[in-house]
Amino acid sequence: NRVIVWFRRDLRLADNPALRAAIDGDFDSIVPVFIQAPDELGAWAPGGAQRVWQHFSLDALSTQLENLGSRLIIRHGPTQQALDTLIEESGATAVYWNRLYDPLTIERDKAIKTHLEQRGIETASFKAALLHEPWTVKTGQGGPYKVFTPFWKAVKDRGSEAPLPMPDRLPEVWSRIGSEAVADLDLLPSIPWDTDIRATWAPGEDGAHERLETFLESAIDKYADDRDRPAIAGTSYLSPHLHWGEIGPRQIMHRLAEWLDDQDSQAVHDHATTFRSELGWREFAHHVLYHFPDTPDAPLDKRFEQFPWSQDDEALELWQRGQTGIPMVDAGMRELWATGYMHNRLRMTVASFLTKNLRVAWQHGERWFWDTLVDADLANNTLGWQWAAGCGADAAPFFRIFNPARQGERFDASGDYVRHWVPEIATLGNKHIHRPWEAPAAVLDKAGVELGRTYPRPLVDLKESRREALSAFDEIKR
Ligand code: FAD
Repeated sequence: NRVIVWFRRDLRLADNPALRAAIDGDFDSIVPVFIQAPDELGAWAPGGAQRVWQHFSLDALSTQLENLGSRLIIRHGPTQQALDTLIEESGATAVYWNRLYDPLTIERDKAIKTHLEQRGIETASFKAALLHEPWTVKTGQGGPYKVFTPFWKAVKDRGSEAPLPMPDRLPEVWSRIGSEAVADLDLLPSIPWDTDIRATWAPGEDGAHERLETFLESAIDKYADDRDRPAIAGTSYLSPHLHWGEIGPRQIMHRLAEWLDDQDSQAVHDHATTFRSELGWREFAHHVLYHFPDTPDAPLDKRFEQFPWSQDDEALELWQRGQTGIPMVDAGMRELWATGYMHNRLRMTVASFLTKNLRVAWQHGERWFWDTLVDADLANNTLGWQWAAGCGADAAPFFRIFNPARQGERFDASGDYVRHWVPEIATLGNKHIHRPWEAPAAVLDKAGVELGRTYPRPLVDLKESRREALSAFDEIKR
């Protein structure tokens, strides 16, 4: 009796319900498999930065499995065919996996389930990525939520299952079952643009738990204040680990509660409440994606289908390259390019700038993030972009347009964040670091900054472009 455990974006061994069910089930052997099939995800196959992460994460999982006496079997898709072949080779009678919520994956998994069951193979899927399944949360009218606060209120005290333990040992995988190597998946770029990504992160289950411990030791006790300051490490940096399922939300909640048991300060408990509600946003994003599966491409607020977006490829490219002449925007975009991550405050700022000041359609920004973020996640990225553009669930009202210079002055008052990522203006003082275009010629001269030569002039006038955005919005408002 053998069972296949099909790993996808649940690249962990602890609190992995599919693996646990296989261990606890009546099986002599477990065959852990990963199947590479990006075509099945259509336009939303992992982008470049995600692929780098995936490479190292699979490597880590592979090593972990070997340490427990098993090994990861790696195959190429199509998935159904790969599973069929593996069933023939191993004589498996069951396939277990953990559920995911993006529309194409749901469709594919349903088809595979039907196919396997027709062949007489037992299938079972489990909840690993979320605290609450999207279909278990309903408004008073029985529909899905479109506003965060009541959504979170409905679920935040529900509690969740205790996380499952790490297995001690796993059965050996029959040596006749062949596997490709992680390197054969060709996930790493041929031009090494990923050096900073490699230096910044430690993909894998161990790396995820280290991040969580570091966050508990050094940042959670000030989280609600520091989470908005991009120059300091005030957040958990768990997003890519969560995206790849190297750690699950249950494990985070559980460890947090355990840690809070020893904390007397009410303030610390309040900071933790803010942090939990961010995980709540992640749940909400998955809820919205599940119930409105066309939102990665189409606005939830249908009025925005008529929005007069501008087709400005040059502006889009300057934004992508961090060359807009607006320091906060450029700093964020360069952090993204170098590290595969961007601070949340900057994600909101650069998204507002692209969709409102430049009036470029949010889908272009969403796509760029998809290719460059290590944590690019169809649920969170879609929600974030539609939120910023003003067309999504619980979105910022369109007329609330971030002023990126003001954002800098408020949240990067020391200018440290901008100085790090935009070194060509680092010599400017705090008064001008966020608006070099307002600096007198003598100040620029002294700082060795020549606008239009050493650093771009602003791509647009912030006030003027804000006015234009508002009048464009007037056209679709009614
Ligand atoms: P923390 O502050 O430590 O938060 C803990 C966790 O809560 C995060 O890891 C994340 O899983 C979740 N979370 C926090 N904020 C949000 C949010 N607003 N929406 C949903 N979940 C949240 N997050 C992604 O994981 N992937 C994306 O592709 C993504 N794209 C975004 C695009 C835009 C335009 C915006 C405005 C936000 C986006 N976010 C995305 C949300 C947020 O910026 C990141 O989750 C956060 O910056 C990750 O850093 P952290 O893990 O240190 O966060």
